[in-house]
Amino acid sequence: MGRKLLLENAHIEGIRYYDTYRRNGGYAAAEKALKSMGPEAVLEEVKKSGLRGRGGAGFPTGMKWSFIAKPEGVPRYLVCNADESEPGTFKDRYLMEFIPHLLIEGLLISSFTLGANACYIYIRGEYAWIPDILEQAIAEAKNNGWLGKNIQGTGFDLEIYVQRGAGAYICGEETALIESLEGKRGNPRIKPPFPAVKGLWQCPTVVNNVETLAAVVPIIKYGGDEYIKLGTGKSTGTKLISACGNINKPGVYEIEMNISVEEFIFSDEYCGGIRNGKRLKACIPGGSSVPVLPANLLLKTAKGETRMMTYESLADGGFATGSMLGSGGFIVMDEDQCIVKNTLTFARFYHHESCGQCSPCREGTGWMEKVLKNIETGKGKMSDIDLLWDIQRKIEGNTICPLGDAAAWPVAAAIRHFRDEFEWHVKNPEEAQRRNFGLAHY
Ligand code: NAD
Ligand code: SF4
Repeated sequence: MGRKLLLENAHIEGIRYYDTYRRNGGYAAAEKALKSMGPEAVLEEVKKSGLRGRGGAGFPTGMKWSFIAKPEGVPRYLVCNADESEPGTFKDRYLMEFIPHLLIEGLLISSFTLGANACYIYIRGEYAWIPDILEQAIAEAKNNGWLGKNIQGTGFDLEIYVQRGAGAYICGEETALIESLEGKRGNPRIKPPFPAVKGLWQCPTVVNNVETLAAVVPIIKYGGDEYIKLGTGKSTGTKLISACGNINKPGVYEIEMNISVEEFIFSDEYCGGIRNGKRLKACIPGGSSVPVLPANLLLKTAKGETRMMTYESLADGGFATGSMLGSGGFIVMDEDQCIVKNTLTFARFYHHESCGQCSPCREGTGWMEKVLKNIETGKGKMSDIDLLWDIQRKIEGNTICPLGDAAAWPVAAAIRHFRDEFEWHVKNPEEAQRRNFGLAHY
């Protein structure tokens, strides 16, 4: 049984409420940080822990925090990115819904470390019921002296505000999120400057994912050295994985980052194997933006090594034979799933969510959707497959924000690993049109 840090108390009835959370050791890490450690010591501990951003990019958190500019007389802000919209990703929702005080405590410790007196939780509009849970936790924390003025007599002040998004995927991109918080249309900004230098209202701002900020609590509670022991290499600690697709036990799991992909999929502790005794065909291990891997490259790397649930191992081989841990949105596909249809579904999503600022993304995502739809419905030509390849190549790396890459990579990986399926659709137009899903030859 793997060790839990974030979900260790998740099973306790009433843990959503302050009294139960506090009775079970809640706010002890905040007390330690504010009363006996101080901002520099907390920053050192977070750096020592090796914690990496859990939103998808995996950027080292301690390094990001140390980049924050500190001009005299200018406020600093902490923004919690709760705009969890990556298809297949629903782990932050779990944390906010069931253990909201863990996040509030993480926000308190992090704001204290950064010298921020205002913190914003930007939450996706579709999580309509969660802001009330967060507001209640914030009110409880305030009533018990953990927010507001002169927190626990330390002289530190903090207010946390919850801001609902309106349901745009792009507002999860940190600079689009900042624009939206400022009351504008959520268009990504060109980086640099990074938010750590010029963020909210042009002030230094750290934007971190929900899980990242919650992880600060056990890091302070147990220490960075303890945290490192739970992972391997540059993948330290634990990671929440939201597992979905054709598995027996979909759900949110906390894993120590030293287990294999095979164990995660097939052991009863986690996904419990493929549903209905079917064969594993493919998996998108880190949310819809990362490359799909066929079963053979999922369980073993191209070098024949066991593929592990770590940042390094999932990326081993680059995009030719590897993928990414990303946001931990783990989508498993069985032998009946059609890769062309799946790729079309994602292409439609990215086309719909493109903000339209840059031409390669605005035009390319729609073009890819159209070509994929033709192939999927039996109206495609062989040359369409190369056309698709060309379009995604021209999007990748040529856009303001990563949405362009996120739209291109799944298409590239699908063609790279499953070209035969695309060809099958072109060669068997009637069959493709008739079924519109599923493939007999798999
Ligand atoms: P990024 O690599 O550009 O940046 C990562 C973080 O590091 C950012 O906060 C950035 O400001 C900071 N950073 C990088 N270099 C810096 C520097 N020199 N100085 C200061 N700060 C610096 O990636 P990103 O755009 O933040 O995120 C892309 C990822 O988001 C994708 O990998 C995807 O997996 C993920 N994603 C997640 C969701 C979700 O729902 N969780 C949705 C869409 C995308
Ligand atoms: Fe907008 Fe797409 Fe350009 Fe991002 S890549 S700024 S979503 S048009």
